[in-house]
Amino acid sequence: MNTGRQITIIGAGLAGALLATLLAQRGWRVEVFERRGDPRLHGYAGGRSINLALAERGLHALRQAGTDDAVMRQAVMMRGRMVHPLDGQPELQRYGRDDSEVIWSINRGELNIVLIEAAEAAGATLHFDRRLEQVDFDRSTFVVKGDGHEEKRSFAALVGADGAGSTLRGQMAQVADLGERIDWLDHGYKELEIPPGPGGSFRIEPNALHIWPRGHYMCIALPNDERTFTVTLFMPHAGPHPSFETVPDGDAAADFFASDFADAVPLIPQLEADYERNPVGSLATLTLDRWRIDGRAVLVGDAAHAMVPFHGQGMNCAFEDCVALADALESHDAFEAAFSAFEAERMPNAAAIQHMALENYLEMRDRVDDADYRLQRALELMLQDRHPHRFVPHYAMVSFMRIPYAVALERSEIQRGILQRATAGIEHLDAIDWAAVDADVRSRLGLLEGTPA
Ligand SMILES: Cc1cc2nc3c(=O)[nH]c(=O)nc-3n(C[C@H](O)[C@H](O)[C@H](O)COP(=O)(O)OP(=O)(O)OC[C@H]3O[C@@H](n4cnc5c(N)ncnc54)[C@H](O)[C@@H]3O)c2cc1C
Repeated sequence: MNTGRQITIIGAGLAGALLATLLAQRGWRVEVFERRGDPRLHGYAGGRSINLALAERGLHALRQAGTDDAVMRQAVMMRGRMVHPLDGQPELQRYGRDDSEVIWSINRGELNIVLIEAAEAAGATLHFDRRLEQVDFDRSTFVVKGDGHEEKRSFAALVGADGAGSTLRGQMAQVADLGERIDWLDHGYKELEIPPGPGGSFRIEPNALHIWPRGHYMCIALPNDERTFTVTLFMPHAGPHPSFETVPDGDAAADFFASDFADAVPLIPQLEADYERNPVGSLATLTLDRWRIDGRAVLVGDAAHAMVPFHGQGMNCAFEDCVALADALESHDAFEAAFSAFEAERMPNAAAIQHMALENYLEMRDRVDDADYRLQRALELMLQDRHPHRFVPHYAMVSFMRIPYAVALERSEIQRGILQRATAGIEHLDAIDWAAVDADVRSRLGLLEGTPA
């Protein structure tokens, strides 16, 4: 039973710090153990991407914790994708209908610090430099190490917010079959930087997520509030050119960028040095058949369902998890019932966004500058006007609404069929058979609750 309202969280990353805040604000006694040092004292030791896209799901969770204002002070608005074709001028493709439908670029380190401060202000106790090593589920104890220190502690229940390589998940797997599967993407990523321009200005349009789509590889760039951009190159780890194997060093990267991303070259003065210094990151989709050991331990965020980053939803989904788990803990007396309700609610939704994230890689790297894609995108917006409570574009359902991801996926698949049938064999919207399309929409899509007006 959770009558003592005590809980132990492993990891003070994005999910761990937010969950600690939400629970401490509701009167829980929360202890958090984090492997890294306190980022407020030693600076933020990253590891994953430097910045992230924050969308409505994540923002909603931040509002619940009262941390949205502090986070948004450092955020940069992104209205849409600025697509940089191989030849020709960059073009903005808006994500939504206007500036009420946008996403935000935020710095991971700054966000983490805001959440850590909020957790402490709410009364949670955070222990830094304390790495979970081992759990004894029978005795309800665990061992943390760090700073030459080793300690055994007891717990009422453990929450694993310790990321994709979760130690808690590893410990749980020793006492129960979690059904773990890891599908590695054969593409990796490397980060580069566009520094500020003369006079400290942004060198390219700041209010956009820039994409250089090139078929089976791409670059993207997200703005930072200090007027830089973090550029991420995604391409295969190995195989025919270009891959990280055929572009092994700074000199090769300079040639590759000159031929494939020519307009980005003058923007990245340290290209060779960044390329040599920064590691190639790996990406994977993690799925589990169970996220918990009865009422003793449960996983959230990347520890439960790491995903590829192409929908910019990993953190947003992890934040939704935190709200769902905090709500479940408030509405059930026993940990087991709360963890079970949380898992039942979130597992199908995590699977849906993992699927959509994989699909979105193809869209970003290959489809965004195709004529048929642009025609379907224009039609999507017109159908949204004609059927505002029925047809909501895929991107809007995922990024501007909080309907369950599984519902967004199901409706997106129906909508894709409608768009494909409507545009088959035509090149302009003038040729659309509106009566047929409207009938298709009405017959296949029910009204969607919570639709933006
Ligand atoms: C290249 C890239 C780009 C991304 N872009 C986006 C984006 O634009 N939008 C978005 O929503 N998501 C994005 N994501 C996904 C996002 O980074 C993750 O979903 C998010 O960080 C998950 O948060 P988390 O708290 O579950 O895990 P993490 O942020 O990984 O935090 C885990 C924490 O646990 C700690 N820890 C680990 N092991 C232990 C241990 N044994 N003991 C104690 N502590 C431990 C770690 O130090 C860390 O602080 C991106 C990911 C990548 C790789």
